[in-house]
Amino acid sequence: MPMTEWLMRFADSDVPAYRCRQGILRYRELIAAARRVASLLSQTVPSGSPVGIYGHKELLMPVCIAACTLAGLPYLPIDRQIPSVRAERMLRLAGARLLLCAAAPPWTPPVPFLSSDKLESAAFSPALSPAEPVRTAPDDPFYLLFTSGSSGEPKGIRITRRNAASFLRWEQSLLGAGEGPVLNHAAFSFDLSVAALWFSFLNGRCDAELESELFGDFPALFDAMDQSAPSLAVLTPSFAELLLASPSFGANRFPALGQFLFCGETLRPQTVRRLKLRFPTAHIYNSYGPTETTVAVTGCELTEVMLQQPLLPIGYAGTRSSITIRDPSSHIELPEGETGELVVTGEQVAAGYLGEIQGGFCRIDSRPAYRTGDLGWQRDGLFYCRGRIDRQLKWRGLRIEPEEIERCLLQCEGILQAAVVPVLQQGRVRRLRAFVVLSSGIHDPQSIKLQLRTLLPAGMIPDLTALPHLPLTSHGKCDYTALKELL
Ligand code: AMP
Repeated sequence: MPMTEWLMRFADSDVPAYRCRQGILRYRELIAAARRVASLLSQTVPSGSPVGIYGHKELLMPVCIAACTLAGLPYLPIDRQIPSVRAERMLRLAGARLLLCAAAPPWTPPVPFLSSDKLESAAFSPALSPAEPVRTAPDDPFYLLFTSGSSGEPKGIRITRRNAASFLRWEQSLLGAGEGPVLNHAAFSFDLSVAALWFSFLNGRCDAELESELFGDFPALFDAMDQSAPSLAVLTPSFAELLLASPSFGANRFPALGQFLFCGETLRPQTVRRLKLRFPTAHIYNSYGPTETTVAVTGCELTEVMLQQPLLPIGYAGTRSSITIRDPSSHIELPEGETGELVVTGEQVAAGYLGEIQGGFCRIDSRPAYRTGDLGWQRDGLFYCRGRIDRQLKWRGLRIEPEEIERCLLQCEGILQAAVVPVLQQGRVRRLRAFVVLSSGIHDPQSIKLQLRTLLPAGMIPDLTALPHLPLTSHGKCDYTALKELL
């Protein structure tokens, strides 16, 4: 039960565990509150059943996450940016028996729920006796996360306790246990947050959260960062570029910031060079992995020599993972240097998707494996990743299947056909554009955007262009290459 043990080690510690705009929770307070909520959970939720957690970065978020962990129940984080239809679908697909609301959702939950008021009085009421941690097994589910699905439905991934513990131990071997606060900007519904929140809990450090409303407001954002004085930042490259847009972001203002861990999308050498100029003595790490293999399975510190290459490595395979490069069709292993699909085996491969979906989960030499869909190669043990086999995209750190947006567009009134393509600038996705064919009488793309907002998170809404018809290839399929030429 490593995650439970990690938390309980700090039950008497007055060291800060979590910081957000609402304030600070010390380990002693966090664990006492979590144990009280856990005692409510054990009275209301059948053993092993998933629990949804709605909110953003509120103080109640880590309380709910720790409560589920101590009660031996898998948790499903639902960030407030997820619209109601999608959130309801996620709760149903997961079979959640209860929703803990760290904030009030602007929709009626489709399952029994505990409002933030009730939750707060339970968490901080000395009247409620704290629960003893429930015994769990390594292969019990730990958390459930949903990613964009090419079938049009978000896919739910089951991460076990073993998966998460393996990742976190490897992260510790990569970065060292360290000290000082760990900065996180990712929502808890994005698994990058695990590399900050649970890494902090493993090492008795403070997880310092940045709320998404700060992202467009440098003075407020930097004030929040000043107050938390992080020594490690867990970042997507897109977020680092946002920070670098301000000349104030540097070692003069943030002298404690000595480590940067990147993950989630392609990290460009230019970004690292700019960061090095601002933080000349900092250690910068690149890491890579799909949610299905628990946050990250490769990583390395970036050296000066690596920065001279046009493509940065994604790192060496983690201590608990093994990675091979395979032919995408025959799945035969390819020799060093040849480009193929990155295939992961080892302790971080998740327990599969919820429901009947198989996706990239498979067995190799009778061991569970995951075919990532990423193209890459390996040289001297270092892995490189360049592009995808399919149409999957990363936009502002968010994983997006264009097919899912197309499916949602087709659910909107007045759309007959839809095709989504990325608008690229220097190889990076800058926007998404949907080419749509409208039924007669519908002329207002804004009304379509409004409908789309009820189905998709804000980060997945494309710009719209109406066409009289979509161009076709000689095989009669939608011609995406021709559409890209219209951008
Ligand atoms: P997610 O499941 O949201 O974490 O997205 C996983 C996908 O993001 C991977 O399959 C890759 O396509 C991409 N990705 C993650 N980390 C990196 C990286 N360091 N470099 C390039 N692509 C990355």
